Amino acid sequence: MPSPNTPKFPDDLYGGRLTIDPDAIAANWTYLNGKLSGAAECAAAIKADAYGTGQDIAGKAMFDAGCRTFFIAVPTEALALRETLPEAVIYALDGLFPGTAEHFIAHDIRPVLGSLAELEEWASVCKAAGRSLDAAVHVDTGIHRLGLSPDEFSVALKDKGLLGPFTPSLIMSHLACGSTPDHQMNRRQLDLFRKVTDPFAAIPRSLANSAGVLMGADYHFDLVRPGIALYGGQAIETEPNPMRPVAKVEARIMIVRDVPAGDTIGYGARQTAKRPLRNAVVAAGYADGLLRRASSTDERPGGFGMIGGHKAPILGRISMDMITLDVTDIPDHLVRRGAYVEMLGPNVAAADLAAYAETIDYEYLTSLGRRYRRIYGPLD
Ligand SMILES: *Cc1c(COP(=O)(O)O)cnc(C)c1O
Repeated sequence: MPSPNTPKFPDDLYGGRLTIDPDAIAANWTYLNGKLSGAAECAAAIKADAYGTGQDIAGKAMFDAGCRTFFIAVPTEALALRETLPEAVIYALDGLFPGTAEHFIAHDIRPVLGSLAELEEWASVCKAAGRSLDAAVHVDTGIHRLGLSPDEFSVALKDKGLLGPFTPSLIMSHLACGSTPDHQMNRRQLDLFRKVTDPFAAIPRSLANSAGVLMGADYHFDLVRPGIALYGGQAIETEPNPMRPVAKVEARIMIVRDVPAGDTIGYGARQTAKRPLRNAVVAAGYADGLLRRASSTDERPGGFGMIGGHKAPILGRISMDMITLDVTDIPDHLVRRGAYVEMLGPNVAAADLAAYAETIDYEYLTSLGRRYRRIYGPLD
């Protein structure tokens, strides 16, 4: 097997490179784990290919750092993670798809049961097996996506006729507004979660995502499920981000050219040069996960790249395979054909770009392109 750092093609033929630092992921897990009191366990949300960073490598890095419980979304991700981490506890957040229990059991995957129908199906499988098979039960405290309603939950968990031998290995709920800690929804969900789960306090409980971990001990219960913060993202919008950056995208400069004042740049001619400009065109675009919504127009500035400590604003529309940057005020020796521009990374926070693109850094990370030369190692 080639190591993940062996490129398929010669290095110089790639338009850009994506560096991911497994040590930073491990350090971020250790940091969040350190926020917990001794009793609570720090798990990891590793869905969507570990938020784009690579499920295998991220999973191994966190397992080696001490993480033992992982949450993925769909069952296929769980089966793949089981091959990587034979000893980990793995939960599938999307729950039990109809008629698939045998696969969960065969691969020792725990569904997060999110409806009465799923709970009934799992309970009947437990009855047939004559034992409790591990699974979590999700109670909805206000986000109204997955989860039994509080009433369904309270009734169902007391109903031995329904559950048979089944006892949940975890009870969980999910915060809707963690990214804004002052939002009253957080307190409301916390209170409701306590109220409905207190009668079953012998079963381990989990409420917190990354933001919940950072919001303090009230939210920690027995297990926390951070995701975005592990991958360097900004869990709480209103505070500086304490996490180490994990990913860096660099795109290669193809050409550097002059644009006369009054001419327009890019598709749609939406941006006009207000003065004579020097532009660099780099070989990565929206097909590489650099979201088109961060394009620039005369009315609204777009995102930026960084070259040797200098900011290079995006000019015009982001294309599929290229982006035009304003390098007018950047020293010539830094802006050479073939040089790399940082488009996301330690100096270009995904959360900053996300503000230009009217999205969140989660979308930048999970969109990281497949066309880059992928490198696992330190970012600098
Ligand atoms: C994605 C997810 C998490 C992790 O959330 P972050 O905001 O990325 O920390 C935790 N719990 C559930 C149910 C999720 O879907």
